[in-house]
Amino acid sequence: MLKVEHITKYYDQNKAVDDLSFEVEDGKIFGLLGVNGAGKTTTFRMIIGLLEPTSGKITLDGKPIDYNVTDTIGFLTEERSLLTKLTVKEQIIYYGTLKGMKEKEILKRLDEWLKRFHIEEYKDRKIKELSKGNQQKVQFISAVINNPKLLILDEPFSGLDPINVEMFMEAIKDFKKRGSSIIFSSHRMEHVEMFCESLVILVKGKSVLEGELKQIKKDYRKKNIHIKGNVDIEALKKTKGVLDVLENADEIIVKIEDDSYIDNVFGVVKKGKEITQFSVEDPTLNEIFLSKVGEAYEK
Ligand code: ATP
Repeated sequence: MLKVEHITKYYDQNKAVDDLSFEVEDGKIFGLLGVNGAGKTTTFRMIIGLLEPTSGKITLDGKPIDYNVTDTIGFLTEERSLLTKLTVKEQIIYYGTLKGMKEKEILKRLDEWLKRFHIEEYKDRKIKELSKGNQQKVQFISAVINNPKLLILDEPFSGLDPINVEMFMEAIKDFKKRGSSIIFSSHRMEHVEMFCESLVILVKGKSVLEGELKQIKKDYRKKNIHIKGNVDIEALKKTKGVLDVLENADEIIVKIEDDSYIDNVFGVVKKGKEITQFSVEDPTLNEIFLSKVGEAYEK
């Protein structure tokens, strides 16, 4: 288990991370979310020991993270750091050796990964000759070649097309099944929503929301009612508890303050015609994220 306890990091006078604490259990996927400059990369760098926290403590299975345990960690950096003049094979041998692996084992795992990512033909090609997406696959392979116990992924999906996003997600889920702890950052809430179990939202280095995704959604009082049919929009807008009414191409979304206003909205909808849908849904993580980040900036 990864345990981050009250870490704070200053760059000179600038507080980049402010008293941050969280835990990532084995076999769990944890999301570290925040806008640009929120402190995500700084947090990752402290976890892998590239930066020393100004105060606070980070441990993996109860032990401090130093060179004794770094062989069990995999890190995908945000700035892609491939040695572009090397071939894919040379690059992965380089990273695998750094992690204390034998060449035979590295090459065996490399072949498996290249096959899985459908890039077997690039094994002896120079990295610079690969497309951006394929370079990212190689970067991912270099982060996981040692079958890490703790996998840290800084913006793993940036620049990937949907097919490759899916492929990365499947690979990450396999690490979860094997019991690895996974922590990743993203700006894309739909990615987080698809496979992360717990999360923390950072604003200016400070946590403004943390916990299990399911619980966060449950606790968030505002709800969305999705309606299909002919309804008096103006009447909906004037209904008590209604915050907003969105008219999309094929449905109406009514945002309400909380569950207690569902009846009021239903009262208006049942006077409508050709109603084929009335469903109350939790807000998207994106809505929660925007509202929490907005609130924090207003303070
Ligand atoms: P992004 O999503 O843009 O990558 P981030 O959430 O990863 O952002 P960080 O890169 O951790 O954020 O930056 C947090 C804060 O620390 C910012 O105010 C940034 O300007 C500052 N910062 C980051 N690295 C350094 C550094 N090496 N020296 C000084 N200040 C830094």
